Amino acid sequence: MDNRYFTFVSRSRHWTRLVRGSHLFQQATGALADIVGVDTGFILYQKQLFLNEPEPLRVYGAWGALETFLGELRNHHAEEVESRIQDLCEFIPPGWSQVEHLRSPIQAVCRAYGMYHIGVWPLHIEQKQVGVVVLGSLQPVLPPHWNDMYICIQQIELVLEVLYARRLSEMNRQQFQSLVENNPDIIYQTDVAGNLVYANASFQEITGYRLEDLQTRRSRRALIVSEHMEKAASHRAKVLSGLSQSLEIAIHNQQGRRVHLSINSVPVMAEGVVTGIFAIAKDLTGHIEAQRELSAAKGLYESFISSSADGIAVIDRDGRYLRVNAAFEQMYGCTKAELVGQYRPFYPDAPESEMWVRLALQGETVHAETGRFGKDGQWMDISVAVSPVIDNQGDVIAISSISRDITERKRAEMALIEAETKYRTIVEESLVGVYIIEDNIYRFVNPKMAEIFGYGEHEMIGLHAWDLVTPEDLELCKENVRKRIDGEVESIRYQMKGRRKDGTVIDIEVHGTRTSFHGKPVIIGTLLDVTERTETEELIRKADKLAVVGQLAAGVAHEIRNPLTALKGFVQLLAEDRQNGRYCDIMLSELNRINRIIDELLLAAKPSLPTFERKNVSDILSDVLSLMSTQCVIKNINVSPLIHQQVPAIHCDANQMKQVFLNVLKNAVEAVPVGGEIQVSVLLQDVDHVMIRIADNGPGIPEDRLPKLGEPFYTNKDTGTGLGLMVSYRIVETHRGSMKIQSHEGTGTTVDIVLPIEQERSQMAVSLFS
Ligand code: ADP
Ligand code: MG
Repeated sequence: MDNRYFTFVSRSRHWTRLVRGSHLFQQATGALADIVGVDTGFILYQKQLFLNEPEPLRVYGAWGALETFLGELRNHHAEEVESRIQDLCEFIPPGWSQVEHLRSPIQAVCRAYGMYHIGVWPLHIEQKQVGVVVLGSLQPVLPPHWNDMYICIQQIELVLEVLYARRLSEMNRQQFQSLVENNPDIIYQTDVAGNLVYANASFQEITGYRLEDLQTRRSRRALIVSEHMEKAASHRAKVLSGLSQSLEIAIHNQQGRRVHLSINSVPVMAEGVVTGIFAIAKDLTGHIEAQRELSAAKGLYESFISSSADGIAVIDRDGRYLRVNAAFEQMYGCTKAELVGQYRPFYPDAPESEMWVRLALQGETVHAETGRFGKDGQWMDISVAVSPVIDNQGDVIAISSISRDITERKRAEMALIEAETKYRTIVEESLVGVYIIEDNIYRFVNPKMAEIFGYGEHEMIGLHAWDLVTPEDLELCKENVRKRIDGEVESIRYQMKGRRKDGTVIDIEVHGTRTSFHGKPVIIGTLLDVTERTETEELIRKADKLAVVGQLAAGVAHEIRNPLTALKGFVQLLAEDRQNGRYCDIMLSELNRINRIIDELLLAAKPSLPTFERKNVSDILSDVLSLMSTQCVIKNINVSPLIHQQVPAIHCDANQMKQVFLNVLKNAVEAVPVGGEIQVSVLLQDVDHVMIRIADNGPGIPEDRLPKLGEPFYTNKDTGTGLGLMVSYRIVETHRGSMKIQSHEGTGTTVDIVLPIEQERSQMAVSLFS
C-alpha cells in the first residue's frame, strides 16, 4: 500500500485534488482533463519504460470524442497509428508546441477525421523523453490556460517519475529476492547473538535440517566437524569486530555426510555498529570430490604411463614432444631431455610414421609394425598404435603412441610356425596312422590313417571311434580309452581288430596317449595295420613247425624204411605158406600202408626235385578219377566232372600234381556220406592261370579249424595221417600256385587249386627246406 499523496494545484480555477497510491497516474491525468475542459481531450503516449512491458507504447487518458476517434484510428490503421505516434515521440521538440506548427504526420490523420489538435508536450524523466501529451478537440478551441497546463504537465512528469522509481525499486526488490531465494548457495543473516534472521531455501537443502532446528547459534555449531570448531569461532569473532572474512569448513549434514562449505561473511552495519552477520556459504563437496577423483585419476594415469613396459609418447599437433616415458626412452635410445619440447620425427626409423601422424590428426587410430636396431645392435620388432588425443569438443589436441617390443613374440611365432610345419609334414607323410579322438569322435586323422581304414580323410572326421572297431574288441577299446581319459595310464599299447569302410577286418596295433586339445582331454594316437605282419607271423610259425617235423620225419622214415623192406620180404615169403596166407595179406596191406606214410613223409621232408613237363591238367585229373572210381562206386558217390577242353596244358610235374588231386579228392570221398556228391571242374581262371575246383557236399569244416588245415598231423580221422593237405600245399607252392579251402559247416567243402600256365624254370626249385 502506497501512502504517499500528491497534490495537483490548478492556479486559475483554484482547485486541489488529492491523489493517492496506485491510481496515481489515472488521477493525475484526470486532473489534466479537468484543466483542459470536458469537451477537450488529451492523449498521453508513454514510451516503454520497462523491459518487461508488453506494449512499446501506452496510451493514457483518452476519453470522450477523442476516445472514439482513437478507437477508430486503431481499428483501421493500428500499425500506421503506432508508427506515427512513435515518430511523434521521437521528433517533438521540448516545451509546448502548437500542433499546427508541427509537420507531424499524425496531424494529417487528425485532419482526415475532423479532429483538431491543440498542442503537444513531451514528457521527460531524468532528461529522458518518456512520452508525449497531445491535446485535442473536436472543435477548434482556444488553447487552455497555459500556466495551468504547464504545472499540470510538470505534475504528470513528477508522478511518472515516482511511478518509474517505484516500479524500478519493486523490480529490483523482486529480482534481488529471487536471486537470494533461488541461489544455490546458502545465504543467511544472523543477529549479533547468532540467531538466524534470514536464510534461503538452499540452507535447508544443503544441511538437510529444517530452518527452525538451526535457529540458534548453538544448534548450528553442533554441525561443524570437531577439527573446524575453533577456526569457525575465530572467524565469527573477526566478522563481529567489523571485518569481512572467508572460511572453509566441513559440517555433517542430516544424513551424516561430510559437506564442505566455503563461507564469505560480512558484518551488517547500522549507524556504525555491527548488528549482525550476512553470509554466503558455497557447497564445495562436489567440487572437492571431483578434485579428489581427478587427482586420483591423474595419479593413476601418471603411474600407468611411467610404469608401463610399453613405450609411450605424446606429441602435440605440430609434432612437438610433450611427454615420453622411461620405456620409450629405452626403446628408442634417446632421453626425455632430448625429446620433450622438441620437434623431432615421431619414429626416426620409420618413414611411414609421417603418414600415421597424418591419419591420427584426422582422428584415426593406426596399428602398425615396425622395427629398428637397438643400442646393442640387435634387431627389435616393434608394434605401434598411434592414436589421436581428443578433447571434449571432439578436437584432436595431441597424438599419443604406444610402442611394444614384440621381438620375442615374433621369434616365438616363427618358431611355432616352423614347429607346426615340421609336425605337419611328419604327420601328413607318416607311414603310421595318426589320429585325435575327442569325446570318442575322430577330430583329426592323417592321410595314412584314412588309407588304413579305406576312408577319405574328411569322411573320417566326425566318425565315432567305435565305428572302426569289430564288436568283439569293442569292450577292450572302450576300456583302454577310458583308462587314458581318466588318467589311469598315460599311454597304452595294444592290438585289436579294426573294421574298414568296406567291412573287411584288419589287425591293428594302437599306441595312444592322453593329451589336451582346446583345453579338453583327448587321445592322440598312432596306429599300424599289422594284418600282413600277423599273417606272416602265422606263416612263419607254420613253416617253423614244418621244418622241425620234416626233419624229424625224414630221420624216422629213413630208419624205418630199411627194416620195413626186410619185413616185407619175409612176409612175402611167409605168404607162400598157405596156412598163414590170410594173416600175411593183412600184414602186407598194413606194411604197404606204413610204406605209403613213409613215402609221403619223405616227400614232405625232402622232396625230390620235380621234373617239369607240359601236361594237360584234365588228363592228370582223369587218371586220378579213374583211380578213385572203385571207392566212389562202393560209397555210391556221384562224381560229376566238368572239364573244359580248351584249358591249355601247364608246365608241371605230373606225378606231384596227381598226388595233389588224389589227396584232395580222397579227402572229399572220405568226407561225403553214402550217396554224396563231388564236383570236379577245370577252368581257365584268367589268361595265365587254370583253376581246378573239387567241391563236395560233405559235413564241411568248422570255422575255427580252417586255419589248422595244412598243419602236419592234423587229422580227425582214426586212420588219417594228417599229412595229405600239408603235402598238397607244398607241391602247389613249388608250382607257384595257390590252394584255397573254403568250407561251411553243413554245406560242404570247396578246394580251389590255381596253377600258372607257364612256369619259369629258375623259380621251380624253390624248396621250403633247402
Ligand atoms: P587226413 O586226410 O589224413 O586226415 P589231410 O591233411 O588230408 O589228412 O586232411 C586233414 C583234415 O582236413 C582231415 O582230417 C579233415 O578233418 C579235414 N578235411 C580235409 N578235406 C576235407 C573235406 N573235403 N571235407 C571235410 N573235411 C576235410
Ligand atoms: Mg587226407
